[in-house]
Amino acid sequence: VGAALLLMDLDHFRQVNDSLGHEFGDLLLMAVCARLVECLPPGTPLVRFSGDELVALLENVDRDQVIRVAEDVRTALDTPILINDWEYRQSVSLGIALIPLDGQELSPLVRKADLALGCAKAAGRNTYEFYDGPVAERALRRHQLHGLLRQALERREFHLHYQPRVDLLSGRISGWEALLRWNSPEEGAIGPAEFIPVAEESGLILGIGDWVLHHALAQHAHWQALGLAPGIMAINVSPRQLRLPDFTQRIAAALALNRLQPGQLEIEITETALMEDVSHATLRLNELSRLGVKLAVDDFGTGYSSLGYLRTFPLDRLKIDRSFVTPLGSDAHDEAIAHAIIVLAHSLDLTVVAEGVETEAQLRYLLSNQCEEIQGFLFSRPLPAGECERLLRE
Ligand code: C2E
Ligand code: CA
Ligand code: CA
Ligand code: CA
Repeated sequence: VGAALLLMDLDHFRQVNDSLGHEFGDLLLMAVCARLVECLPPGTPLVRFSGDELVALLENVDRDQVIRVAEDVRTALDTPILINDWEYRQSVSLGIALIPLDGQELSPLVRKADLALGCAKAAGRNTYEFYDGPVAERALRRHQLHGLLRQALERREFHLHYQPRVDLLSGRISGWEALLRWNSPEEGAIGPAEFIPVAEESGLILGIGDWVLHHALAQHAHWQALGLAPGIMAINVSPRQLRLPDFTQRIAAALALNRLQPGQLEIEITETALMEDVSHATLRLNELSRLGVKLAVDDFGTGYSSLGYLRTFPLDRLKIDRSFVTPLGSDAHDEAIAHAIIVLAHSLDLTVVAEGVETEAQLRYLLSNQCEEIQGFLFSRPLPAGECERLLRE
């Protein structure tokens, strides 16, 4: 038995306040407080924390009792509130920190309750979340990573690995995909699947993406200067970068700086990113295509793109997501999907790259279904630049 700090946030309060006015907002807040006082255990301190956030301190409770109070709060607010003849339904999201489990001091407790609150909102609002819940743990991790990521560029903690793409007709390397690697002195190696979303959310991806672009192109230019034929260099670009008004100019400048032709660079954009903001994507892809840069749709099959949209983008290549490649050679149903994707791509004049090819059986299937290129552990893992050089000399 201990105590609990409840941080309560009125859902969509700002919109209500902005559209119906402060007086209405204040009345609503007071009405909500009155409801809360009724349903919280008698004598529970309740204070306005900021704007539309309220804090309550429950004493002598265990976790189950806190859950019951949180449920009571939801039920109490479920009945419409009557203001100026309006029937208004106001829900709240709750973030909960437990005392002494999550701490004793006010400020870390509030911070933890706030992280939990963020998770409750992310879960669709009108719900509660404990700081010790698994969702809150992820929020904490994101928060930590954000702190570490902020300094990672200037502390030179990033480097690139390159994974070869193999042309199935010739059996030769046709290009490379640059994949970001992060070695944090505090945390060790952290995978891009974990940190790229944090970088994207915080905007740090803009600086990081620029670094990747410049680094990958410099590497390509270096290989050429050595007399090697690296083929195409592909980089991954996130939606946030695509929305930069001068993105195309940045690409052009980086190409010029490294004396490379636009056709030597390929930009990979996930299917989801394309569909998320079709008008922006169309604008940017048309610019890039006019510049002469190659364009690939990445992770194809995981989003929900319609054929109509796909045809309006000036794409060159389609990368079949690994989840459709893995079952090849063992599952007839998934083979039918992969087959359909390849036929679709060809009908749109796109060449096809299969991602994540790990077995001979998958390779055989792709060969007999006219897939043009493969990428995957079967041929090579992503490698540091020095090892790529060896492969290029073979
Ligand atoms: P992605 O673009 O789909 O990259 C392919 C991922 O599959 C890479 O994971 C690669 O290491 C992995 N992979 C390649 N072949 C195989 C295989 O045969 N089997 C298996 N199991 N995996 C294989 P990685 O390097 O961890 O990257 C994960 C994701 O992070 C990438 O997925 C990409 O979306 C993102 N990412 C990586 N670098 C960057 C970057 O510079 N910028 C942006 N915006 N995103 C990046
Ligand atoms: Ca709010
Ligand atoms: Ca990719
Ligand atoms: Ca992919």
